[in-house]
Amino acid sequence: MQKILIGDPDTALLNRIRNAPGSEHYTFEEAHTGEELLKKLATFQPDLVMIDLMIPHMHGIELLKRIRSNPKTEGIGVIIASPNSMIQNCHAALQAGADYFLVKPFEIPFLYILFNRFFEGNLLPDPLPSPPPTAEHEVYHPKTHEPDSYLHFWGTRGSNPVSGADYDRFGGNTSCLEVRHGDDLIIFDAGTGILPLGQAIDTTKHKTIHLFISHTHWDHITGFPFFDPVYNPNVHLVIWTPVGFEKSTKELLTEMLAYDYFPVRLEDMKAKLSFNDLRDGHSVSIGNIKIDCHYAYHPGATLCFKIHIAGKTYGYATDNELFLGYHGNPNNLGPDHPLIKSQQSLIDFYKNTDVLIHEAQYTQEEYEKRVGWGHSSVANAAILCKYAQITEWIVTHHDPKHTDQMLLEKLQLQRDILQQCQLHCHTQMAYDGMKLML
Ligand SMILES: [Zn+2]
Ligand SMILES: [Zn+2]
Repeated sequence: MQKILIGDPDTALLNRIRNAPGSEHYTFEEAHTGEELLKKLATFQPDLVMIDLMIPHMHGIELLKRIRSNPKTEGIGVIIASPNSMIQNCHAALQAGADYFLVKPFEIPFLYILFNRFFEGNLLPDPLPSPPPTAEHEVYHPKTHEPDSYLHFWGTRGSNPVSGADYDRFGGNTSCLEVRHGDDLIIFDAGTGILPLGQAIDTTKHKTIHLFISHTHWDHITGFPFFDPVYNPNVHLVIWTPVGFEKSTKELLTEMLAYDYFPVRLEDMKAKLSFNDLRDGHSVSIGNIKIDCHYAYHPGATLCFKIHIAGKTYGYATDNELFLGYHGNPNNLGPDHPLIKSQQSLIDFYKNTDVLIHEAQYTQEEYEKRVGWGHSSVANAAILCKYAQITEWIVTHHDPKHTDQMLLEKLQLQRDILQQCQLHCHTQMAYDGMKLML
């Protein structure tokens, strides 16, 4: 009786072959790995072997070459079988001396036709296989929709915009965050990132736009005159700002847009502009989004925010100097330390926030020289993460002197400090264009 060795890890297939009509004419042996197949070649001495191209531990082509180069096995018939039927694989198998390349899956009766052909001496390879034609009704076309609920960072740089090859990765536009939830559109800060955002907004759909300005330092308002929707008479721009020390936001923007600085005055902007005051403790609801406000530790009246959307909370604090003048190890500040107690209100404000977007503009060395500039060291920001029990921390408001390379090194510093504080907090760097789907 003719002997056939099947080298394939698929035992269900092996059983189907063994139990098919016509099997009574052959003696079968099986092997499930390449090594096993080599052993069975010697002991079983088959007339024909079928090898799965990707049989475990040894590639089918290597096995085929060994069979053809060994005088004891060179005359054995070889069928290579595989679903991996790219033309290169078929070519390689036939060139290495396979009698046939069998595309998986196959019908068992067809395999028996091949066996018969081989033992009748007329098994010839088919033309190289081409992918089977696909009927249109068999093609999966998933239903897709435009994402309509996300946070989109349009500007992640602090203090001053930057550009150039050193800033390609994280970008150079100053603070601007778009919060989109269905038809609701809210913008935080009008740094230079608001320019590309303005070009992307469909004002036929979004006629009312809410702009929250954390404070009126340049890096948070300098994009305002370049925000396209302010020139659209159909747009109503609702501006929310903290009550400042000296002048109202409307007065500040009016001065900023004097003819000496800019050719269009605030009063000549075509959109309807409304101004609203914000204070610590305020909550504002816009559509299905709620925004809570808390004062930030920064020169001048500055707010940081907590955004509630669809059952989740997102903290947003771009300018916040935590634990002013503290340069020590974050682990040395226990929960009852006066420094912690002095900022307990902010810690409670951000407690268990799902995602905290918070600056950490300075490395430890930089912070030693910049106390009182209004921005946190990485370690001091990590203390907030610790006591507010944050598990996801996104750092934004990058220092304009920090190149992409330096920010990557600083990201490692953030991770190292979180680890040394034994916090289970994931951290990443925001970049211009980053989108968090909600
Ligand atoms: Zn800033
Ligand atoms: Zn500032």
